[in-house]
Amino acid sequence: MSDCLFCKIVRGEIPSRKVYEDEQVYAFHDINPARPVHFLIVPKQHITSLATAGEADAPVLGRMLAVAGRLAAEQGSPDGFRVIINTGRVGQQEVEHLHAHIVGGPDPVGPMLKRI
Ligand code: 5GP
Ligand code: ZN
Repeated sequence: MSDCLFCKIVRGEIPSRKVYEDEQVYAFHDINPARPVHFLIVPKQHITSLATAGEADAPVLGRMLAVAGRLAAEQGSPDGFRVIINTGRVGQQEVEHLHAHIVGGPDPVGPMLKRI
């Protein structure tokens, strides 16, 4: 997936503001934040979406969620946050590399976001 936007970000070919990385996941600030805290957690290995993920992807899917709480707290959202994974056409996913939006901030995020 050499021409995938988020694969290029993972490889450092497109700059991003890194939040965290380990051997499985990469986290970086969303370029167009919807709330004071808004970053994305992606698998380093290309997975198109939750619709195409399978049993073999369970470890990295778990890791994406397992690190979310600590990273959200570090980024300024210690009292909770929202996780959004837009999936496919119906989920209005724009970038076809699986990503979890972590959205929060000091204040409640409000009603379900219309579009993130
Ligand atoms: P989706 O609609 O696919 O769930 O979300 C894609 C997200 O990626 C959007 O929130 C958008 O702002 C973000 N995004 C798109 N291109 C870039 C980029 O080049 N850099 C960063 N950091 N975020 C991006
Ligand atoms: Zn990719």
